Amino acid sequence: MTTPRISFEFFPPQTLDASFKLWETVQMLAPLQPEFVSVTYGAGGTTRKLTHDAVTTIGRNTGLRVAAHLTCVDATRAETLEIAQAYAANGITDIVALRGDAPKGATRFTPHPEGFADSVELIEALAATGQFTLRVGAYPEPHPDAADTLQDVRWLKRKIDAGASAALTQFFFEPETFLRFRDLCAKEGITAPIIPGILPIENFAGVRKFAARCGAQVPQWLDDAFAVAKRDGREDLLSVALCTELCDALISEGVEDLHFYTLNRPHLTRDVCHALGLAPEVALEKVA
Ligand code: FAD
Repeated sequence: MTTPRISFEFFPPQTLDASFKLWETVQMLAPLQPEFVSVTYGAGGTTRKLTHDAVTTIGRNTGLRVAAHLTCVDATRAETLEIAQAYAANGITDIVALRGDAPKGATRFTPHPEGFADSVELIEALAATGQFTLRVGAYPEPHPDAADTLQDVRWLKRKIDAGASAALTQFFFEPETFLRFRDLCAKEGITAPIIPGILPIENFAGVRKFAARCGAQVPQWLDDAFAVAKRDGREDLLSVALCTELCDALISEGVEDLHFYTLNRPHLTRDVCHALGLAPEVALEKVA
């Protein structure tokens, strides 16, 4: 089996305790030598400063390549571009450019009156600066705002054509879901890499709720398997086994990159990476 290239997603900490957890996560996963790590941007821009601080701190202290997520929500164009410029000034030139979700209490995304209308406008503006490597989101199962997967794929093509160099997908649980999507992307003329988003399941009940919100299907067999594992207190073991199997199936279909949603809990992601043959670079264990 080919060893994949990997990347990790973190979220910015809101408390001191969460800061330690993030740092522990970075320290545990850095030795696996990810291509890059990324830090999310809170819904509605609520973590603007925290994301900035987490991105620059990780970059400065680890030497890892760090990508900052950035959305269009609740900000003018000038404010959004100012955030990007502040990253560039700190040597951060990787951005995951997103439209973002509706702010709390609202049912659908509504652009700020002076803001970017959608992700394509954001990507075009960032690409025009010539300073950034841009990645975007992609949806193997229809995004709640999309009529169907074809609409998602055609919109994704517009995002790539606007200046993105790769797409990171929403999580999914069966390899066929991703492979069908990848085929459709190729058929619609997308040549940029589509990198599968992988979620090791730490808390099945939480994942179920999250999946329902973002349109990811939870197959019945997964429900059944976690019910049995919970009874036996072996959920972590099941998570690592299933996640490794999913990654393995993707790799055997030619997937070369995997993007892990770590939720700042490093153990399952680390165990899956080890099972996939990624050996830690010991010299990096004392990162920072
Ligand atoms: P888009 O791809 O622009 O839109 C989503 C779908 O809606 C499209 O695929 C398309 O089908 C349809 N659509 C939208 N606009 C149009 C249009 N004008 N014409 C036709 N169809 C359209 N959210 C955060 O708040 N912070 C984060 O850090 C964050 N990180 C993420 C990382 C990844 C890898 C992914 C996959 C999602 C992330 N999200 C994050 C969630 C994301 O903000 C939501 O899914 C949001 O609803 C869509 O953002 P997008 O840029 O992917 O949207």
